Amino acid sequence: MPQKKYTLPNTGKSHSTIKSPRVKKVYKCINCNRHFNPNKNEKCYFHNKAPMCDGLRTNNAYDRVIYPCCGKVQIGYDPILEKTQGCIVNDSHFLSN
Ligand SMILES: [Zn+2]
Ligand SMILES: [Zn+2]
Repeated sequence: MPQKKYTLPNTGKSHSTIKSPRVKKVYKCINCNRHFNPNKNEKCYFHNKAPMCDGLRTNNAYDRVIYPCCGKVQIGYDPILEKTQGCIVNDSHFLSN
């Protein structure tokens, strides 16, 4: 039986298209993808493998997103209802540029 592969669907939402009334520099971590304050850097928890989804349910609360690096399961896809803590910890966030 051929194995079916599922990829995460594009929700069509892009934060970059939302125009902010004020120009504010956003610092985004390349590891955890979270915004952070570089003057107040803190520990960074992240997964080093892309999450896998076993197919979206009709109800977001039933969606399960699995991180193959540690096997942790996140509940909900959009919005995320139960976030998992990253299995890899860095002392600080990393800036992408
Ligand atoms: Zn992980
Ligand atoms: Zn980070």
